[in-house]
Amino acid sequence: MRKRRILVIDDEESIRSLLRSSLINEGYDVITASDGIEGFDKAVILPPDMILLDIMMPDVNGYQVLQRLSKDHRTTGIPVLLLTAKADGEERVIGLEAGAVDYITKPFYLREVVARMKIHLRLKECEEELTRKNQVLEEYSDLLLQLNARLEEMARMDELTQIWNRRAFNEQMNNTHNYSVRYLRHYSLIIIDLDHFKPYNDMYGHQQGDIILMKVAQTIKAACRETDFVARYGGEEIVVLLMETDEESSYTIAKRIITSVEKLNIKHEGNEGHGKVTVSAGVANYSPYKSLDKDWETVLKRADDALYLAKNRGRNRVYKK
Ligand code: GH3
Ligand code: MG
Ligand code: MG
Repeated sequence: MRKRRILVIDDEESIRSLLRSSLINEGYDVITASDGIEGFDKAVILPPDMILLDIMMPDVNGYQVLQRLSKDHRTTGIPVLLLTAKADGEERVIGLEAGAVDYITKPFYLREVVARMKIHLRLKECEEELTRKNQVLEEYSDLLLQLNARLEEMARMDELTQIWNRRAFNEQMNNTHNYSVRYLRHYSLIIIDLDHFKPYNDMYGHQQGDIILMKVAQTIKAACRETDFVARYGGEEIVVLLMETDEESSYTIAKRIITSVEKLNIKHEGNEGHGKVTVSAGVANYSPYKSLDKDWETVLKRADDALYLAKNRGRNRVYKK
């Protein structure tokens, strides 16, 4: 362990040399100053682990030094032990109230000086260790928060398509519905389903099917706005929740989605009449002024019915209900 450095500030040469030699004997590194100004400067330049400070000194007295030490950020943490005359109790109280950690009365009993110093050095070490441990703890807890947020997000993401999963969708849909009922807002829901996807898997393989599913999901996401909520509802069904959006706008967006998937031009011979990968969509809108939807499941059901129509009437198209 490194040697502890003690700064002795006292105007009396005999006391300085007595303390210096005794403390060196005890294994400390000792520096001395004969007045308050020199003492403060040394405390800044060679920060000690502890200061022994005489109160009665000409020019700048011990209290003034104590004040400067405690106000300055470079020295404020250094424990100060006052050297006071035994007779003066009031002097000691003022010193302790001004921020000194303890006092030693003159004339000294040297073993007591050392014993008190050890206590305060140990206290200071404990304090520093606590601060260090607190810092580490804070860093860990930050890390844990980040990790939790990431895990939370992962639990709401669909691994294959990298869009939200059904669990996230249910939550979002429920929140959006409640918000829209409460604040009389519109929202819309689009359900999208890949056309004849089973034959696609049969013809091109399930693995290739996965790749297409991923591509289509990302294409749909790219066709939407940042604020739209795109999730995999299950299998090859993708839902888009559009907050604050009326029927006309959501219908336009659904058409844009269908066109952008068609434009991928992915060959799909089993998709009768189209020859490439296409999707069908159903749109439902919640309007606070005319809606009879008692809950979000009813809105979902209407979108699903619209999708069914789109499928029955030739696929690669959108219907609203
Ligand atoms: P429709 O146009 O009527 O929707 O026809 P479809 O064949 O798409 O409909 P169906 O619901 O009968 O079949 C859906 C198929 O989607 C079944 C399954 O092969 C495929 N599918 C569902 N989830 C996945 C997936 O994660 N990966 C792959 N590759 N295929 C999937
Ligand atoms: Mg399908
Ligand atoms: Mg389906």
